[in-house]
Amino acid sequence: MNSTAASTWTLADSAALYGLEQWGRGFFGLNSAGEIVLKLPTAPALEVSLVDILAGLRQRGHDLPLLLRVENLLDARLAFLYDGFNRAIERFGYSNRYRGVFPVKVNQQCQVIEEIVRAGAPYGHGLEAGSKAELVLALASLPPGGLLVLNGYKDQEFIDLGLWAHKLGHCCFFVIESPAELDLLLLRAKLFNLRPRIGARVKISAKVGGLWTETSGDRSSFGLSCSQLLDLVETLKQHDLLDCLQLLHCHLGSQIPHLQDIRAGVAEASRYYAALVAEGAPMGHLDFGGGLAVDYSGGRSGHVYSRDYQLQDYCDALIGGVQQCLTPQGIALPQIITESGRATVAYASMLLFDILDVQRFDLDCPAAQNVADADLALLQQLCHQPISPPVAAVCYRQAQAARDVIRQKFQLGQLDLRQRSHGETLFLALARRILNLPGVTLQEDLAELPQSLSDIYYGNFSVFQSLPDTWAIGQLFPVVPLHRHNEQPDRQAIISDLTCDCDGKLDRFIVAGRQQTTLPLHGLRTGEPYYLGVFLMGAYQETLGDLHNLFGDTHVVSVRLNAEGGFDVLREISGDSIGEVLSYVEYQPQQLFEQMRRAAEQAVRSGRFSIAERQQFLTTFADRLAGYTYYRS
Ligand SMILES: *Cc1c(COP(=O)(O)O)cnc(C)c1O
Repeated sequence: MNSTAASTWTLADSAALYGLEQWGRGFFGLNSAGEIVLKLPTAPALEVSLVDILAGLRQRGHDLPLLLRVENLLDARLAFLYDGFNRAIERFGYSNRYRGVFPVKVNQQCQVIEEIVRAGAPYGHGLEAGSKAELVLALASLPPGGLLVLNGYKDQEFIDLGLWAHKLGHCCFFVIESPAELDLLLLRAKLFNLRPRIGARVKISAKVGGLWTETSGDRSSFGLSCSQLLDLVETLKQHDLLDCLQLLHCHLGSQIPHLQDIRAGVAEASRYYAALVAEGAPMGHLDFGGGLAVDYSGGRSGHVYSRDYQLQDYCDALIGGVQQCLTPQGIALPQIITESGRATVAYASMLLFDILDVQRFDLDCPAAQNVADADLALLQQLCHQPISPPVAAVCYRQAQAARDVIRQKFQLGQLDLRQRSHGETLFLALARRILNLPGVTLQEDLAELPQSLSDIYYGNFSVFQSLPDTWAIGQLFPVVPLHRHNEQPDRQAIISDLTCDCDGKLDRFIVAGRQQTTLPLHGLRTGEPYYLGVFLMGAYQETLGDLHNLFGDTHVVSVRLNAEGGFDVLREISGDSIGEVLSYVEYQPQQLFEQMRRAAEQAVRSGRFSIAERQQFLTTFADRLAGYTYYRS
């Protein structure tokens, strides 16, 4: 690193490099100590350093990694959502209201649901359930009279529980996704002597871009086709239940990047709505499902991890679009419902972890030696000769070929370990020289150099447990150091997790607004921890995770920033112990311990253990069963 650059490095440079303002939406910033702070735009504005929160949590005995949830961020997101819709309603003079429901599948964690219900109560925010388990949870969480939208395939047990919810006084919509469901609902409702509120889910044919295009369109596995929708109307008429049809539902997809796709979907859904009114259904509610995207990359673009619109544009598109279609037809405007999951909860959760070790690949050319082998001699010569940018690619290819032959000769026993090691070192040193060559263009063979020579930072976490979507669908999340932002990061790295799986890594990042395969990080200092955070991970990650390599749930701590510039710890949930993780795969920890007791006693009898060692071993084994699955420094 060039020292003048270091001395002129500012917090603003760091914020721009990591895109804090772009993806952070004002919730994340830097303080003068170079630490990431959480910010809340309340009056007075609240600001707390994540490093301080971490220190406070470590004093309370929580090891890393841990998942931090910040309740105020959930509250703030809900407030933004309602502000946006209320502004649009005012702007267009829309003569009905907006209400949201939280789709439980996006984050089913008890404290998240409880907080959404609590903070959402003044708005009448409801819940959406797509399975029996989610309905059980929703029913137990909603206040009396709460809004409940039931999606998903519904069997008799699901329907009966929904009918009980209706009887309890909840505003419960049964969204019909398939023709068979309706018959069952009508049968059960008759037995309950109820007239259920029915919604019809339609397939929108407007094509939606992004990662979840399959959710929409003719081949979507959810929703009714036109003729099925007409059948539904006929069936309801026959049963004299058409007045129960009060909601139209469509879900265009998740993380929809383009506003124009949303507009097209809104226009089509409004037509369906008008058609059902024309059929004589009372309707009154139009539910657009989820889809409001989160700008993970901060690029404000139509990229799949971004979006080309703001929250306000989304609200305007829905409110304005419905009005534009229905008002000219003289149709009373419906209450607008959305099921925003991702956009509600993504911001509130972050994974915090420490770096355990770093592997570097920046070697200096070793001093020239007397080497007998021709390929080693060639590598040595390439490494020491001057290189100009135009010949860099040729040199690199030659060196690669020589290195490969050296590896072969090692396999055939013609070169020994020291010779091979010398060859590998020469090759890496040469590659590093080429990468650092002023004016070199990194194309073709040379394009792999930045990633193949980048450091590997070993992080104390599991991708599979905590960030499953990065592995499953290549999801991008912002990854940022929690501190040292007043220093220029002078390393380029990928991040590897604790699992023994080559997919257990983070190697796609947004840096200065561009997608990159390496992330700039600070060099580790001995005896000093280095903390990283993965942000915007409150949606979908918390229950999709699995037990790869038996790394269990991390600790979870929920905090609320307070007006004194500090934070209150609201809830702490210990992560899985090793014994718990083993019980998930059908072992019985107590039985394992008994087995070890017998083995230890046997070892005493055969003289391998002293009695004191037997005790020591059993204590160690019991401690491990009760201990955390992650790395303990
Ligand atoms: C998944 C899902 C949602 C949530 O979508 P987001 O894009 O996370 O807001 C809403 N409604 C239905 C029916 C869904 O399946």
